[in-house]
Amino acid sequence: MNAKKFKRTTSITVLMISLLVSGNIARAETCYYNPWFLSAELRAIDQYFVSRICDQATVDKYWNTFGFVKSYWDDGMGWEDCCNWEKPLGRIFGTLYLLENSYAPKATSLSDWSGSAVKWGYPYSGTVYNDLDDLRCKCRNGDWWAYTRWGIGADDRIEYYWKMIYEVQAIQRAAVILHEGHHYGIKEDHSCNANQDRNWSDNRPYTSETYYLISYYWYANRHTSKVWKNYAADRADARIASKFCNTPPAWVVNFR
Ligand SMILES: [Zn+2]
Repeated sequence: MNAKKFKRTTSITVLMISLLVSGNIARAETCYYNPWFLSAELRAIDQYFVSRICDQATVDKYWNTFGFVKSYWDDGMGWEDCCNWEKPLGRIFGTLYLLENSYAPKATSLSDWSGSAVKWGYPYSGTVYNDLDDLRCKCRNGDWWAYTRWGIGADDRIEYYWKMIYEVQAIQRAAVILHEGHHYGIKEDHSCNANQDRNWSDNRPYTSETYYLISYYWYANRHTSKVWKNYAADRADARIASKFCNTPPAWVVNFR
C-alpha cells in the first residue's frame, strides 16, 4: 500500500472492471455496494474492527501477507480508501484484524500454530494466503461467498464475493477466510458434495470453519463480548446443522 494518506471519496458506486474472456469480448462489470444488509448490531462489528486497521504498518502487513492483487481491489473496491468500513477492502482488513486479535496472547509469528483455532486461525491463514499470493475481489459467482482454485493448469487464486463481504457477519467472515485458506492449504475440495463435508473427522474446510466459530465462542478474550461470542455460537450451530452429511460428534453438537 503506497497511499500514505488515505483519500476520502464519497462515491457510493463501486466500479469493477472484470475481464471476462468470452468470445474475446472484454466486459466491464459494475457492482453497487450496500453495507446495510446486516443489522445495526452486526454492522457495528465491522465498524469496530475497521476503525482499528487504519495505520500504514497494519495495512501494509495485511496487504503483503494475504497477497491482495491491486487490480482487483482498486477502482472503488477500497484501495484508495482502505479505512472505510463500507468498502470491500476495509471490511476485509477489519476481518483480518478480528482473525488476528480475538485471543491474547496471540500467535508469535505466522509459523506459531499453537493453541486453539481462535489463536491459530490467523497464522495458518496468513501462511497459506502468503504462499498463494493471489487474493481477488469480485461482484459475484452465483450464490457463492468465496472460491478457491488450485491445480495443474489452473490459475491458482482465492476470490471473495459481495455476499461474503456484505451479507455475512464479521466473525463468520473470519471463519470463511480460514475456510478458503484451508482449501488451498490441503488442496482438497469438500468430502461429501460441493456444499458439505462428509464427516467432522475428515478435517476439511467446514470442520476448520465451524471449529473456529466454536473456538471463538469458548476462548475469544480480546476485542469481543458475550453478545459477539453468542453470534459466533449461533453460526457454529448453523454450520453443524447444515454442512456435514454425517452428524458431527457429540462434543461438537453440544459445544455450548
Ligand atoms: Zn469450501
